[in-house]
Amino acid sequence: MQRYLNYIDGAFVAPDSNAWLPSANPYTGENWCEIPRSNERDARAAVDAASRAFRSSAWSSFNASQRGVLLRRLADLITEHAESLACTEVRDNGKLITEMRGQLRYIPEWFHYYAGLADKIEGSVLPIDKQDYLTFTRYEPLGVVLAITAWNSPLLLLTWKLAPGLAAGNTFVIKPSEYATASTLEFAALFGRAGFPPGVVNVISGYGSEIGDALTGDSRVAKIAFTGSDSTGRRVNEQAARDFKHVTMELGGKSPNIVFADANADQAIAGAISGIFAAGGQTCMAGSRLLLQEPIYDEFIRRLVAACGVAKLGDPMDDTTQVGPIANRPQYDRVLSCIEMAHADGATLVLGGRPYTEGNAKRGLFIEPTIFRDVSNEMRIARQEVFGPVLAVIPFTSEEDAVAIANDSPYGLAAGVWTKDMGTALRMSQRLEAGTVWVNSYRAVSYLAPFGGYKQSGIGRESGYEMIKAYLQTKTTWIYSGEACPDNPFVMR
Ligand code: NAP
Repeated sequence: MQRYLNYIDGAFVAPDSNAWLPSANPYTGENWCEIPRSNERDARAAVDAASRAFRSSAWSSFNASQRGVLLRRLADLITEHAESLACTEVRDNGKLITEMRGQLRYIPEWFHYYAGLADKIEGSVLPIDKQDYLTFTRYEPLGVVLAITAWNSPLLLLTWKLAPGLAAGNTFVIKPSEYATASTLEFAALFGRAGFPPGVVNVISGYGSEIGDALTGDSRVAKIAFTGSDSTGRRVNEQAARDFKHVTMELGGKSPNIVFADANADQAIAGAISGIFAAGGQTCMAGSRLLLQEPIYDEFIRRLVAACGVAKLGDPMDDTTQVGPIANRPQYDRVLSCIEMAHADGATLVLGGRPYTEGNAKRGLFIEPTIFRDVSNEMRIARQEVFGPVLAVIPFTSEEDAVAIANDSPYGLAAGVWTKDMGTALRMSQRLEAGTVWVNSYRAVSYLAPFGGYKQSGIGRESGYEMIKAYLQTKTTWIYSGEACPDNPFVMR
């Protein structure tokens, strides 16, 4: 069985305790690799390395343009290793190889984009209101960034943090999810080859419950960039608040996908399917509440069920598979318990609802694509994030009604609107409480487009021009060139 090592200070090292955790392939059910079960001493060693590297001339002597060169080299190395990184995530996480090839083709674009941006962040000379002063601002990196990622798309979620953070000149400690660590540890091998000095990027694996507090509580960590559930996010944010760390929180969602009666039905059906069943619903942006206007409610559901009923479940390495396994056992159990909960609350099951065990799938963690109709927004299936292939279909009457239902949620990550009426589209996009609104589309993301949540879906955004500033702090410098004594507090200049 393959054994992975932590990556600290430019070297692959065994955990302090020499303890290991098995990682299972959710398609075969077999343990296929071991990852380090790190402890607090490993956590401290990783922060030591990142902290030393941040202060070292080896890193600070790279100017912004030179950091851009390193990021471009890293992007090229990712392209070179795309196939093996993609296969590792499929094995570890059950993601479809077709999706992973697409992700690995796209991930380098984030590094190219922020490589280009690294030397274009300019401070300014202020038109200051006092005589004989030259006052200017510049942007400086924060220091050590702790990146904590979820298991559903480890490399993509990490890229959204690393690309702007390294371009800005920070150093990193990365803690991937215990359920999907392998690809991040393979990725770590590329940093040395790209020319990053030792300690600039460090990765340690293990249980969040065992090393989380040691990492988030370390006062040398200047920022935490977290992706995960709102419950863990709350705890991490509380830790961060103790010493006023910067935070970015990318949390969960219960996103409404809203179809008006005038929508192009073919497009809307395709959008509803990809919104919830892509990646088996294991995405933060899943369109897990489908809001259908009453005149089209029955017919739309009939067509949706017919289309989803023929989805091909199976081997995630097979190019023709459309739905892969649930990524890990706790999540599989959780999805099944959410299905029970929907039954108990009176929703009507119209598709799926059971484990899928045909053919080779019997060894894996498969759940049929599941659709409930007659859901009201008060039911738990409409309020709690499932993070699996379970769709709750809710009827609505008017634009007003759709806005009220959509916004009646603790979450506000994303929303979809399907209509041919541009007036409706614009009004809805303005009124929906969501960080992203897609019109006649769902799930589009880009390195150019900020992504993140309103309300309990998070704090801050990732991607886009502005987000490099989430990894920088502003310094203001005042230079006095006058003759008079400058520090007389009673003289206002
Ligand atoms: P999770 O259980 O909250 O875990 C997220 C990360 O936090 C993991 O690396 C986990 O490590 C770590 N962790 C656990 N306890 C910790 C602690 N006390 N201190 C520090 N770190 C700790 O979430 P998940 O199940 O991995 O991911 C699913 C969630 O992520 C969903 O809610 C989904 O919506 C959200 N998500 C959001 C976005 C977005 O961009 N908004 C994107 C993807 C996913 P262990 O795994 O070792 O416990």
